[in-house]
Amino acid sequence: MEKYVYLFNEGNSDMRNILGGKGANLAEMTNIGLPVPFGFTISTQACNDYYKAGKKISDTVEQQILVALEQLEEKTGKKLGDVTNPLLVSVRSGSVFSMPGMMDTVLNLGMNDETVKAVARLTNNERFAYDSYRRFIQMFSNVVLGIDLFYFEQFLEETREKKGYKVDPELTAEDWQEVIAGYKAIVKRQKKIEFPQNPQEQLFLAIRAVFDSWNNQRAIVYRRIHKIPDSLGTAVNVQSMVFGNMGNDSGTGVAFTRNPSTGEHQLYGEYLMNAQGEDVVAGIRTPEAIHVLEKEMPDVYKKLLATCQLLEKHYQDMQDIEFTIERGELFILQTRNGKRTAQAAVQIGVDMVREGIIDKETAILRVDPEQLNQLLHRRIDQTAKRVPLTKGLPASPGAATGAVVFDADEAEQLGKEGKKVILVRPETTPDDIHGIVAAEAVVTSRGGMTSHAAVVARGMGKACICGCESLKIDLKNKLFTVGDTVVKYGDIITIDGSTGEIMLGGVAMIEPQLSEEFKLLLSWADQVREIGVRANADNPVDARKAFEFGAGGIGLCRTEHMFMDPKRIPIVQSMILAENYEDRTVFLDQLLIMQQGDFEGIFEAMEGHPVTIRLLDPPMHEFLPDKEELLVEVTKLQLTAPDSPELAEKERLLKKVNQLSEFNPMLGHRGCRLGIIYPEIYEMQVRAIINAAVKVTEKGIPVKPEIMIPLVGHVNELKRMRQLVEETAEQVMSATGVYFDYLVGTMIEVPRAALTADRIAEQADFFSFGTNDLTQTTFGFSRDDAEGKFLQTYIEQKVLPENPFAILDREGVGKLIEMGVTLGRKTKSNLKTGICGEHGGEKSSIEFCYLAGLDYVSCSPYRVPLARLAAAQATIQHRGSIVEAVR
Ligand code: PEP
Ligand code: MG
Repeated sequence: MEKYVYLFNEGNSDMRNILGGKGANLAEMTNIGLPVPFGFTISTQACNDYYKAGKKISDTVEQQILVALEQLEEKTGKKLGDVTNPLLVSVRSGSVFSMPGMMDTVLNLGMNDETVKAVARLTNNERFAYDSYRRFIQMFSNVVLGIDLFYFEQFLEETREKKGYKVDPELTAEDWQEVIAGYKAIVKRQKKIEFPQNPQEQLFLAIRAVFDSWNNQRAIVYRRIHKIPDSLGTAVNVQSMVFGNMGNDSGTGVAFTRNPSTGEHQLYGEYLMNAQGEDVVAGIRTPEAIHVLEKEMPDVYKKLLATCQLLEKHYQDMQDIEFTIERGELFILQTRNGKRTAQAAVQIGVDMVREGIIDKETAILRVDPEQLNQLLHRRIDQTAKRVPLTKGLPASPGAATGAVVFDADEAEQLGKEGKKVILVRPETTPDDIHGIVAAEAVVTSRGGMTSHAAVVARGMGKACICGCESLKIDLKNKLFTVGDTVVKYGDIITIDGSTGEIMLGGVAMIEPQLSEEFKLLLSWADQVREIGVRANADNPVDARKAFEFGAGGIGLCRTEHMFMDPKRIPIVQSMILAENYEDRTVFLDQLLIMQQGDFEGIFEAMEGHPVTIRLLDPPMHEFLPDKEELLVEVTKLQLTAPDSPELAEKERLLKKVNQLSEFNPMLGHRGCRLGIIYPEIYEMQVRAIINAAVKVTEKGIPVKPEIMIPLVGHVNELKRMRQLVEETAEQVMSATGVYFDYLVGTMIEVPRAALTADRIAEQADFFSFGTNDLTQTTFGFSRDDAEGKFLQTYIEQKVLPENPFAILDREGVGKLIEMGVTLGRKTKSNLKTGICGEHGGEKSSIEFCYLAGLDYVSCSPYRVPLARLAAAQATIQHRGSIVEAVR
């Protein structure tokens, strides 16, 4: 019979898939002898079977739960529902990947009208017993019975007011009994049932509710963002309760073995005395910093510190630990690898290598390449005048400026419209997740650094400030006040997530400096990786940035971007409007000088590394004014100034625009098709490149130009363009007497090029896969507007697993790339291959490129560090399996 239920001493940390992360860790901790309250885990398979059976717990699973319960009862000497020594348990979710706060939990299960009396007797604390019971009713009613918490909160508030109390600790045992009666009445009113008194019934209802919470809205959204498969299911952990709310010698908290924000090697965390588990993470009361515990309970602190060190050594990673102190005794409830900012991930990885805990490759694998973005983000210029309006807890670093909004839906709406917003909330709850995704940053007036949404924001690399208590939020009137200052919906503020400061208006920002550890980690990545990283850059400034970020060359210089400069566009237009070759060359000569200057700057910035320059690619109409607008102007002039020279000029322009307009511009007269019809344009560009290379060579700086022809589909196109390049280059070189090597290659961005790559390689020294166009031409999806029109729905409805313009479609586009590489190398074994579409900066696509045997990836300068790390990770994970792995 399949095993579905495991006692904590029957599992270990390798059983994550079966027991979920939390269950596997509880088992592991039990086995290494830590003080973990005993319990059992119901497997993820049981959850999946539950869904398969139409939300039914099978008899087998039920039976195994009952057996495990008996064993738990034996071990603890307590019994569920017993009126002398009752067992109380927590029922918690725990999936394979941690999803903080996304699923449900029930605490204090086993309480009823009778057991509460036993708890009061045993603890000699009536007040505690009734408070625990009312907490249970509240939580169970919300999570299991689906009653809004609002009813309970409102009732509690009314009771407090009626009795003239300000805070909960003022309520006596009798008061809590009154509250319990009120709560039961709410259940009866809302659900037409009595609150369940049978603890076994409570247990099975709670288990079902946790299974159900796998598919609640926020869990689904979280899984989508973090790419966690829906098919994994959640495990359920049933664990005997310990109480942090038994008085002032009890408490509960969260500790990180290192600072999850900065990576600093020092115990970090928060706790609350006389409180229960969820009070800390829910972010409702603002907790104490962990070092205060050292003064308050020195022995417990010492033990906690030792346990943290033991756990970190055992797991060889920074741990995020939940603990409870019950009457001076420490219990560990949970440990997991701690979520951390990019800065902390890098710092901890490098420190742990230095401390001999892990090796360099492990450190490389530990940092998520996407997370590096955080380090490359801007922060507030230190020299700028900053006048903080107020200050909260620095929950996630980075700085942001945006308009204040008070609601997650609003943040999402405005975010969609491209507006930069800062989400300001009294407290952050997991339900706000879509707003956090859309906002630039998040600010809360309550809650600690480990509140759920703060953790989520940190994981996403969003700046976040928590617990800013001086901020008085008025949700109804959409404003907040700090003292006398009123900040309204839509007002601009700036926040610094690294210091917790909030400022009015915008503040000057600067680009980030990379830490020594960051550079060190990337230098380790460079030693490991077996695939090059270049950058896409079109001007000397970007080229320098790319070089600084560690690019080993330029993989794509889009020369049309040089044409787009506002000062140059009139010359480009005149060149296009020229009626004949002679007229055109006048303007081409002017452009030549401008382009040459840019090329010189780029060659110099790259200090002898290869620079791939692509000749003009986009259809010509892109450089001319918009047809509709022009039509309006011409019509107006025809009415107001029919004989003006201005009208004649505009009419000429309109005629040309009409001539050049295309039904399907992306399939139109662009790429090498331009070079074939207007060879003088390509010739000018080649002349500019070679002239620049001559100039730079003369300065003593080596150059490696690689001239790239776009949109080739037939070998003859490349043959002609290659001839043009070679003849032009030869002219310049023989005229100047300066000779150097250069390459001529092509982009592979239409399927025919990949299919006939053996023929095309006859004329090419290198291939660069332009996967933006190759995705467009392979799918037949427009790269300009498919996303807005239907692609989003395709992805939501899972017609496609991902957006193929963001993550390379290995099955289709990938097959063409493999074919292109294989066929090309058959003709020319030393053919250089690379990728320069957007995919070159995306980690899964980089992994594919490594597996397909490409020589390099090329991406935007800011993604270069990410690509270096992702390239190293792909190498470590797949070394030795290239080619076989693709087949
Ligand atoms: C491509 O098509 O992938 C490419 C890099 O060229 P562009 O995006 O300029 O068309
Ligand atoms: Mg292209």
